[in-house]
Amino acid sequence: MAVAAETQSEEKGSSEVSAAEKRRWTLNDFDIGKPLGRGKFGHVYLAREKKSNHIVALKVLFKSQLKQSQVEHQLRREVEIQSHLRHPNILRLYGYFYDQTRVYLILEYAAKGELYKELQKCKYFSEKRAATYISSLARALIYCHGKHVIHRDIKPENLLIGAQGELKIADFGWSVHTFNRRRTMCGTLDYLPPEMVESVEHDSSVDIWSLGVLCYEFLYGVPPFEAREHSDTYRRIIKVDLRFPPKPIVSSSAKDLISQMLVKDSSQRLPLHKLLEHPWIVQNADLSGIFRG
Ligand code: ATP
Ligand code: MG
Repeated sequence: MAVAAETQSEEKGSSEVSAAEKRRWTLNDFDIGKPLGRGKFGHVYLAREKKSNHIVALKVLFKSQLKQSQVEHQLRREVEIQSHLRHPNILRLYGYFYDQTRVYLILEYAAKGELYKELQKCKYFSEKRAATYISSLARALIYCHGKHVIHRDIKPENLLIGAQGELKIADFGWSVHTFNRRRTMCGTLDYLPPEMVESVEHDSSVDIWSLGVLCYEFLYGVPPFEAREHSDTYRRIIKVDLRFPPKPIVSSSAKDLISQMLVKDSSQRLPLHKLLEHPWIVQNADLSGIFRG
């Protein structure tokens, strides 16, 4: 979470919450293993559900910190949305429970960890690897948009890698379930599309923009509108100041796809189903979504 000024709110009826609640879990249902990482509001542990032996990731959040940062509403929305999504490239949220001081989220375990670290290690990805990831994310976003869910915060930090090497979209903290066009500021600056930087109305095509930024970062190792000052990043996004450096060498087909996604007029961005038919995706992506190094 970075630039934050959530001004609108919408909630679904409480009946929709109950799906994640069908089973009343407690901490006693789990054996807790090694820590997997820490986030802003708590820690994530490997855990095993005692009865089924099912391995999960248990995210432990401190209520006091959630209150202090006024993100309880956002968390509730994240849980409601994520628990209803079923897609191989979206991290499952199996359920949640809480005690006096903490909230626990029962998450699918992503055995290969963070994509961000993988990208740092490699500096940038091959075209085959980038295309495989982008096509799997496009399919996951088509699924989300079909359910009127906009993610709004697609970036390497929010992507985890499953045991098979498949990407999993995690962190639905900024997502919305909506039929309306919205006007809020959220997400991290580098990935924000012009209409969100300028706080005008936006819709699911914000995710196409972010996927374009991600594709660029996969191939070049840095996001396209990076600048030393925030204000310069803003300016570059609004102008769509898109430049392709000479190194690393990237095919013109990949650049063509990126240019069709990073379009200022959101209605003119390449729709995700068309992205799947783009020659760069067709020629490079492994449809299993699994990158085989
Ligand atoms: P922030 O807002 O700072 O990103 P957060 O509260 O969203 O923090 P996460 O990013 O979800 O916290 O989790 C912290 C770290 O724990 C992740 O970066 C990742 O390394 C690890 N982690 C989280 N969830 C899982 C999971 N399901 N499987 C494996 N590792 C995980
Ligand atoms: Mg996170």
